[in-house]
Amino acid sequence: MFIRVAVPVPALDLLTYRLPAGTAVPAVGARVVVPLGSRIVTGVVVDTAPALGNGLSADAMKPIREVLDAEAFIPSDVVDLARWTAEYYAAGPGETIAAVLPPKARGGRADAHKTMRVAAITAAGLGAVQAGPVAPHLTAKQREALEILAGVPAGIPTPQLAARGIAADAVSRLARHGLVSVRRDRVDRDPFDATSFHATPADTLRRLTPEQTAAFERLRTLADTGSFHVALLHGVTGSGKTEIYLRLSAALRARNRTVLMLVPEIGLTPAMVSLFRQALGDRVAIQHSGLSDGERHDQWQRIRRGDIDVVVGTRSAVFAPIDRVGLIVVDEEHDGSYKQEESPRYNGRDVAIVRGQRANALVVLASATPSMESYHNAMNGRYARIVLERRVLDRALAAVTVVDMREEYAENGSDVVLSRVLERAIAARLDRQEQSLILLNRRGFATAVFCRQCAGTLNCPNCSVSLVIHGERSARRAQCHYCNYSTRVPSACPLCAGPYLEQTGFGTERVEAEVRRLCSAARVARLDRDAVRRKGALGLLLSRFRDGDIDVLVGTQMIAKGHDFPRVTLVGVVSADVGLGMADFRASERTFQLLTQVAGRAGRGEQPGEAIVQTLYPEHYSIQLACRQDYPAFYARELQFRRAMRYPPLVSIINTIVRSPTFAGAMEDAGDIVQRLRQADGERGEFRVLGPAPAPLGRLRGEYRAQLLVKSSNRKRMKEALVAAIAARPDLQRRVVVDVDPVSVL
Ligand code: ADP
Ligand code: ZN
Repeated sequence: MFIRVAVPVPALDLLTYRLPAGTAVPAVGARVVVPLGSRIVTGVVVDTAPALGNGLSADAMKPIREVLDAEAFIPSDVVDLARWTAEYYAAGPGETIAAVLPPKARGGRADAHKTMRVAAITAAGLGAVQAGPVAPHLTAKQREALEILAGVPAGIPTPQLAARGIAADAVSRLARHGLVSVRRDRVDRDPFDATSFHATPADTLRRLTPEQTAAFERLRTLADTGSFHVALLHGVTGSGKTEIYLRLSAALRARNRTVLMLVPEIGLTPAMVSLFRQALGDRVAIQHSGLSDGERHDQWQRIRRGDIDVVVGTRSAVFAPIDRVGLIVVDEEHDGSYKQEESPRYNGRDVAIVRGQRANALVVLASATPSMESYHNAMNGRYARIVLERRVLDRALAAVTVVDMREEYAENGSDVVLSRVLERAIAARLDRQEQSLILLNRRGFATAVFCRQCAGTLNCPNCSVSLVIHGERSARRAQCHYCNYSTRVPSACPLCAGPYLEQTGFGTERVEAEVRRLCSAARVARLDRDAVRRKGALGLLLSRFRDGDIDVLVGTQMIAKGHDFPRVTLVGVVSADVGLGMADFRASERTFQLLTQVAGRAGRGEQPGEAIVQTLYPEHYSIQLACRQDYPAFYARELQFRRAMRYPPLVSIINTIVRSPTFAGAMEDAGDIVQRLRQADGERGEFRVLGPAPAPLGRLRGEYRAQLLVKSSNRKRMKEALVAAIAARPDLQRRVVVDVDPVSVL
């Protein structure tokens, strides 16, 4: 018998091992310990076969060392989904399976739970208690322990006994005499701390609006068919989409089917879990990478045991080991964080659709600003399209004012961060005790250091980017956002030694400082990746804001996502065009989404909302149409551009980056792949290959990067040709990154 095993090593194909005689055939999805070169690793069985294919010699096959699980550890449908993912995204099956495994699963048997010692009285112990004082070998303490335990035959955890004055060694002595038994019980670590999070009180008797009702009924009808469907739920911000997920989930549970609820950000999971637990009870699990290994492991095991009706999580939760899935919701489906930016480079939304197809489930893609891909599929009839045009309770969308910063600079100098309009609007909110969100999608204090003598800039020694200034005035440092290189801000130019260094450009830290300077009475906080590095910091910041302890929250796109803060009545966007300068075909789409989403954070409570958008390009269509919140017009305009330039959703693309110690080497190797692709395409002319060219980020961590972009309507053939081209150059394998359906081509 031969076993094919996925081992967690990047870019390695499945490996075949021999099953030693007398060993039971392991199930697909069971973990096995196997030799790999001089190492011993834990892999997952993906296939078993009684005979080998041609050219393989049974003698050369190494035997499996040990089978760790009597049954599948990963359900076989999830193993298949991982294999599909590896294939589609041109990743190794082993690294993909590794991404599916819960933490700690590679170490040993599946009993790495947190356990707790529980003491229970035995029959002999009961006899001793009943014998009373005539049982001479008992101390008073031991007798007391037995009496307590006699009252709780199921047993008492030892920490509780300790709290009642019965120390662990007393329990151990009783156990040695056979009067008490001690067992280990599993305790599930539940990361959801109900005390730290207060959801907006749910009104369970709340009536759905007519629009919500119609959407819910249509979706329920689709779910009730019990066959695969995808629906795009296009609902403006604040239209009450969450309420629909909750009711659909309840309907599915009544039919004994489970739900996968995907959200784009770890920070959105507590609110979502809280709503689901209020609506459906405790059988709701969480899966995301911000949990400790132990928490994640325990939650995974709960799901695997079938103790769960709903899994709420970020992209990797699409691989949760849940059975009988009837509904998969991808909330904010347009969000770039569904794409994993390391191998396997999968898009959780697209894997969700494949999972839904295999499970005969309904997949709901929901967004106020659908991705071009999903809307395209809805328009051409592949997805059902369901629209929520109105906010609940007839709340108006925020009124948007555009501030032309060219005029502002002309009048007040190019140093201005907050326009007068925005400054006054923040002050008005402070007077009325309402809250403001201020967005700038760029971290740091200043974004470059410029020498006025030689015109040089302070660059990263390892990457082709300028260093960003961070920190308080007294401890300011220059950092690279790509490799984490960091240095003191020099007082003289490193190139010409001139003393005329100037900090230019600004990020969230500068905006925060400006708000403090202009509104000294305001309680100001900042939300970006730097501010929430510590575990728990994000949740704390969000709950302080929700509780009204913060007046003005300044942040990156992290503040734009999904949150429902009813007391926010002002949203300010400091530089709406930050993303438009990027050499990325999705730049306009991303700008439109970000502006629409962040404007949607204002006016979600009783008070109407206002958004103020500062920009240097007020005439750009993505800014204009976002301000009018006109999605269909944006889609039509953007589709013209995608068609003219041949970009998704009209063709598929694969981005490839080749790394090399030298610039010439990177370009040459990328050129070689381009040649091979052209050859493979031949007369057919199905591929359009751009490159080789220096990648937009031409140097990263000391290595040079060349890029090639392939476009085709035939994604499968394009990918196969690319995989074959790389396979023909084994020396390149570890220096090439292949990104199928890239979200960013930078
Ligand atoms: P979306 O996800 O579409 O942006 P949410 O689901 O966050 O919107 O809902 C916005 C707000 O409206 C939430 O505070 C929610 O509790 C509330 N809400 C939803 N449905 C109703 C309803 N039928 N009646 C009253 N309030 C509702
Ligand atoms: Zn760097």
